[in-house]
Amino acid sequence: MSDTPPKNHSARDVLRELFPESYRELFGEAQEQDSPPTLGLYPVADGRLALVQGGQLAEFSPLDPKGNKALHCDLCHFTRSRQEAAFYRVTVAARRTRYVTLCLDTAACQRRAGTRGLAQLADRIFPIEPSYAD
Ligand SMILES: [Zn+2]
Repeated sequence: MSDTPPKNHSARDVLRELFPESYRELFGEAQEQDSPPTLGLYPVADGRLALVQGGQLAEFSPLDPKGNKALHCDLCHFTRSRQEAAFYRVTVAARRTRYVTLCLDTAACQRRAGTRGLAQLADRIFPIEPSYAD
């Protein structure tokens, strides 16, 4: 029982464990911030995105675009063209998948959405079934 991992991982810890390269890119040498981010959407490898909230992490995998219809971003709620947004698949449990549409410019999208928009997106995704999360 003594090897149970601590449960209060910060978002940074989770990112550092799962995506060390992205972690270095995002946080680099900036160690001055006292409070680690608890909510955010971060670009990781291969066009994927990681949504982090507290100690939870969801991975968004891009899907091949089909058709030419305009897209409605599920985060900032702007209407985007095919070139400006993409579909992502998020596996939240063994047989449960959610699909979200997000702007390709993640940073600008998050600025438009703000913390509240991010929290609403996180509410749709989390919790992820623990057995699947690792
Ligand atoms: Zn957006």
